Amino acid sequence: MKKALFAGSFNPPTLGHLDIIERASKVADTLVVAAVQNAEKSPLFSLEERLQMLRDVVKPFKNVEVLSFQGLVVHWAEEHGVNMLVRGLRAYSDFDYEMRMALVNRMMTGVETVFLMADPGHIHLSSSLVCEIARHKQRLNAFVPQEIEEFVYKRLSAKLAN
Ligand code: ADP
Repeated sequence: MKKALFAGSFNPPTLGHLDIIERASKVADTLVVAAVQNAEKSPLFSLEERLQMLRDVVKPFKNVEVLSFQGLVVHWAEEHGVNMLVRGLRAYSDFDYEMRMALVNRMMTGVETVFLMADPGHIHLSSSLVCEIARHKQRLNAFVPQEIEEFVYKRLSAKLAN
């Protein structure tokens, strides 16, 4: 039974995240997508908003569940019976950080990290890019899943315009 965890900020979820979710759901028996509840960062979207957006986009995938987590991802993973962490790799710039995280996480609990290469069509996508585009009141259809585009656009263009 392979239970995988794809954790992140998802602030907001992008088409790049969705692609990793879809592909990871085919590799794992169960995939948990978990949004971090991080008191130090002040994300543009509240935890509840990020969870709701994730729930909206994972609906088609029957073996995917959405949860939030706090603290060290490896401890959370252990408590929830997760035996594989999933991460997306976009460019070489992701590699250094991700390699160190994967090594530390394995050292701490033995959990393995599986990397999926970003789809070439999504390699440029990040949550911060979405926010920057919305700041200039541009629609986001090419960047975020259609189920959440309206919500993300309205929320960000109102919040970031000034
Ligand atoms: P974090 O704060 O952990 O970086 P993110 O929400 O930015 O959270 O990213 C979560 C995961 O999604 C990371 O593994 C990241 O590499 C991956 N990811 C982000 N954007 C993309 C993308 N466009 N294509 C593939 N993977 C991505």
